[in-house]
Amino acid sequence: MQFVSTRHQSPAVSLSEALTQGLAPDGGLYLPAEWPAASLAWNEPMSVPQAAERLLQPFFAGDQLESALGDICREALDLPAPVVPSRDPHVFLLELFHGPTAAFKDFAARFLAACFARLLRPNAPTLTILVATSGDTGGAVAAAFHRRPGFRVVVLYPDGKVSPRQAHQLAAFGDNVHTFKVAGTFDDCQAMVKQAFADTDLRQQVPLSSANSISLGRLLPQMSYYAAAALRWEQIYQSLANFVIPTGNLGNALACVLARKLGLPIGDILLATNANRVLPEFLDSGDYQPRPSVQTLANAMDVGAPSNLERLRALFPQHSDLTQQVSAASVNDGELRQIMATAESRYGHIVCPHTAAALALIQRRQQAGDQRSYIAVATAHPAKFDSVVEPCIGHPVAVPAALDELLRRPAQAEPLAAEYAELRQRLVQLG
Ligand SMILES: *Cc1c(COP(=O)(O)O)cnc(C)c1O
Repeated sequence: MQFVSTRHQSPAVSLSEALTQGLAPDGGLYLPAEWPAASLAWNEPMSVPQAAERLLQPFFAGDQLESALGDICREALDLPAPVVPSRDPHVFLLELFHGPTAAFKDFAARFLAACFARLLRPNAPTLTILVATSGDTGGAVAAAFHRRPGFRVVVLYPDGKVSPRQAHQLAAFGDNVHTFKVAGTFDDCQAMVKQAFADTDLRQQVPLSSANSISLGRLLPQMSYYAAAALRWEQIYQSLANFVIPTGNLGNALACVLARKLGLPIGDILLATNANRVLPEFLDSGDYQPRPSVQTLANAMDVGAPSNLERLRALFPQHSDLTQQVSAASVNDGELRQIMATAESRYGHIVCPHTAAALALIQRRQQAGDQRSYIAVATAHPAKFDSVVEPCIGHPVAVPAALDELLRRPAQAEPLAAEYAELRQRLVQLG
């Protein structure tokens, strides 16, 4: 299988090349050059690693990683991803927060790390994985590469703009993980990272690779939990599973669209954004107006230019086709607070602000008379956003064991000015 850029100005590459390059040389995002037949018989429930191995086999075919696919899936994706009922018989939650950093990004980051570890050449110089994070990506990538020989992780996060527990978690790894709190915004962090990747001199001294949300190696494995959930759903309810997905850069949601394209029994896909409403506006009008993000309670979705939209548009060039694939709506902070405050009594679950956005869309549909069942994707554990959740619910949230372990470690983030020259100097010093 070959992979092509959404901009069609770069040559097709193998899977391994697409994984290590991240972005295509023409600035586009990699997509499979062809789609395997959707007619694979998907008729029995399977675990997430089993679903991943089956789904990804055609994409790994012919690549140097092909023979390792089963091991990669078992090593990286063997995390619980239960669909749990709620007190509302029509509302279910797909809990994706049982990994080491309590957010769904653990699945993809661990998969990417398992692939990278197998692509590392013997005696290669240390590879630096450079990530800018608005909160959850950095922790997931750090956990996935922590203490892996041959790798170093450098995380940049905007100081004061992630939750206190996210900040602690980002800086609690130590060893081969270096965390910088940048005196600036997430956009500043991302701009510094982009400059580093464009700095060929630097890259000769300090080999760099990325793990950001445009990476194909993050997109592909995310199909697997939708597959496992939908197959189980079909077996129990003999119907298609409808997913409501909290959305920022559209990586998680696009994976659900791709899983349906590959024949999984998935019905409607609804995307919930926070007050950053570029995506719903684009779907309504056909007019794409990216803009700087605004800060909201659901900070992991504070995105003003959803990066994976380029993939969705490449897959469905006709706007009318695209709008048949997904629908989207925006939820403001007031509604998020109200949902978080009432979720415990209404659903029997405490939810993070991102998950609250998905529940808000379900409530809107129910108010309009919709009686179908929906699975809200629970993207993070509420304890990770305690500073937002606890004031809404009026009591503490129990902390899951893995998160608790990280929070007990000392945190060491180094301050950094929002200037590329400073980052460059630190990268060179690290070697
Ligand atoms: C990253 C993240 C999102 C948004 O996911 P995308 O793939 O960027 O759309 C939603 N919720 C949480 C908790 C996240 O960490």
